[in-house]
Amino acid sequence: MKKLSRRSIFGVAGGLAGAFSLRGLSAAVQDAAPVYRRPRLKITDIKTAYITAHGPQLHIRIYTDQGLIGQGEATDAATGGAAIIAGWRPFLIGKDPLNVEALWEQIRTMGIFAGAQGGQFTTALSGLEIALWDLAGKALGLPIYQLLGGKMRDRVRVYCDSANHHPDDPKAKEKLHEIADMGFTAVKFDIDEATDPARFDRVNWTASNGEIDRMVREVAFVREVLNKRIDLAVDMHGRYDMTTGKRVAIELEPFKLLWLEEPVPPENIDAMREIRQSTKTPICCGENLFMRHGFRELLEKRAADIIMPDMQKCGGLLETRKIADLAHTYYVPVAPHCVVSPIGYMASCHVCAAIPNFLTLEWHWIGRLPLWRDFVKEGEIIQKGYVTVTDRPGIGVEMNDEAVRKAQRPGTPWFGA
Ligand code: MG
Repeated sequence: MKKLSRRSIFGVAGGLAGAFSLRGLSAAVQDAAPVYRRPRLKITDIKTAYITAHGPQLHIRIYTDQGLIGQGEATDAATGGAAIIAGWRPFLIGKDPLNVEALWEQIRTMGIFAGAQGGQFTTALSGLEIALWDLAGKALGLPIYQLLGGKMRDRVRVYCDSANHHPDDPKAKEKLHEIADMGFTAVKFDIDEATDPARFDRVNWTASNGEIDRMVREVAFVREVLNKRIDLAVDMHGRYDMTTGKRVAIELEPFKLLWLEEPVPPENIDAMREIRQSTKTPICCGENLFMRHGFRELLEKRAADIIMPDMQKCGGLLETRKIADLAHTYYVPVAPHCVVSPIGYMASCHVCAAIPNFLTLEWHWIGRLPLWRDFVKEGEIIQKGYVTVTDRPGIGVEMNDEAVRKAQRPGTPWFGA
C-alpha cells in the first residue's frame, strides 16, 4: 500500500474539499491517519540567529522534509552556541526529530570530551532540544506539556524581576505599584552592588557593615511599599563569601522572604548547605548548575530550600522535568530561572504546567516591554501575573521576525540569511 504522507494527505484532502466543499476535511483525514502510519520526519537543516536582549540569546530553527519547522532558544552561556550547533549539523541531518531524548543523549555522550558536562555545550544542547520538542508537538498535533506527562495546572505563576528597590530613587515606589497593578504576586530584585561606596575593596566580596545596612534598607523599602501578600525574593548573584552570606541571611529573616538567592558562588555545595543550616531564610540556587548531575549533590546534601534550573541552559525541557522529579523526592520546590523571549518562556511554561512541585517562574523583561509584546505573533502571553499555557501544538507561539530583527545582534546571520 502506498504510504500516506502529510503532504499527500493534504493534497488528496484538498481535492476532496474542493469537490465537496467540506472545510476541515484535510484535517479530519490527517487526524484519522494513525501517527505510526505517517512517514517519518527527517531533519534537513538547522539554522540559528542571535538577538541581544537579556544578554546573548540564541534562537534555533530545525527544518524538516515535510515543511515543519521547530524553534528553540538558548541563553546566558550562548555566545558560542551557533558554532557548537553547526558542529552537530552533519549528525542531525536525516535523523527523525521525534526521538528527542535519543538525539539529546547521543549528542551529550559524543561530547564527553568536548565539554558536555555543562557551560556552552549544554546550553546549546538545551536550545536544540527545545526546538525538537516544538517540532515533535507540531508533528503530533499536541502541546508540549502533553508530551511531558500532561498538565498539573492551567496557569503558570510568574514573578517579576526588576530593579526598583532603591529607596532614593524618586520613581521606585510608583514603579513597584505598577508591577503590583500588573497582577504579579511575587517580585525579585538584586542586592549585590559592585559600585556600593561602602565597599572597601574592588575584588573581595566580603560585605562591610555599610553594605549590609544598605541591603537591609532596600529590602525594608520594598517590603513597606508592596502589599504584604506579594512575595519577595532577593538575589546576591553568587558573589559574596561565607561570612557575608550568613550575616545577610540572618539579617533578612524578619522579612519572611520567599527566598534568598545564591548568597555564595554555586560551585561549593557544602558552603551553600552551611548557609542554609545557619538561617531561617529559605535559600534558592541552581541557575548555574547543569543537568541532573549538577543538582544531585545539591539535593542529596540538602543545600537548598528551592532550586532554580534554567531550562534554556541546564539541558532543556525534559532534563528540567527530570531535575524537578529528583527534587520532588526531597520535597524541594522548583522556581525556574528564566530570562528568555516569549518563545523560550512559553516552552518553559509547558514544563511548569507539567511538574507537581512548580513554585513560580522568573520574568525579566519589565524593562523591554515593547520587544516582549511584539516578539511573537500571538502577542502578550502574561495576563495578570500568570501565563495560561497554550493548547496549540508544540510551544504554541511563533516568532514575529520583523519585530525581532530590530534586536538582531550586529554582525551575526539571521537563520542563514
Ligand atoms: Mg540569580
